[in-house]
Amino acid sequence: SATDAKEAAAESGLIVLAGPTAVGKGTVAGYIRENYPDVLLSVSATTRTPRPGEVEGVSYFFVDDAEFDRMVEAGELLEWATVHNAFRYGTPRKPVEEAIAAGNSVLLEIDLQGARSVRSAMPEAKLVFLLPPSWEELVRRLIGRGTEDSAEQTRRLDTARRELAAQNEFDYRVVNHTVADAAREVVDLMQIPTDSARP
Ligand code: 5GP
Repeated sequence: SATDAKEAAAESGLIVLAGPTAVGKGTVAGYIRENYPDVLLSVSATTRTPRPGEVEGVSYFFVDDAEFDRMVEAGELLEWATVHNAFRYGTPRKPVEEAIAAGNSVLLEIDLQGARSVRSAMPEAKLVFLLPPSWEELVRRLIGRGTEDSAEQTRRLDTARRELAAQNEFDYRVVNHTVADAAREVVDLMQIPTDSARP
């Protein structure tokens, strides 16, 4: 039942990792994938095209608009959102529910809209907001990675400013000083019973 799923989510550690663009969510999630094999990292579907080095089924499931529409209509996504006013991203429901049912820990690396959807669908999920050490550092990281043109960088910094304002909606905040430390903090949160963990 839905109640069972919610209780299981609380016990198994369903963690949502969100935070502003370029804060290093993807890097922290990738580090967790490499170093904490017990944590299931949800693989999202997206209508965006792959960047160099991204692998189908590992980075994302890359789908076209028609296939994304089909997934939405079939109820296959736990949540989905249009991000940066451009592409759609969504969390496949089945792997998450299976992992929770098996008592495993699941990490969703999604945007703020997605975090809010999960909050209403599964209130026991733990919401973690990843923060940059400073705004200047966030700008430096976004420009430094060089994957977006300047119009896209401006758009993403606007999104980041709005997203930073939402950090108080989250259960936990983790500052991404170093990837290894941030990953450890996130993984440690999975062990805490939800009731005693809420600040
Ligand atoms: P990128 O295109 O840089 O890989 O990701 C852009 C944004 O989409 C990031 O903020 C990332 O967290 C978000 N995102 C990735 N997968 C999902 C998802 O399944 N659902 C939602 N709501 N956002 C996602």
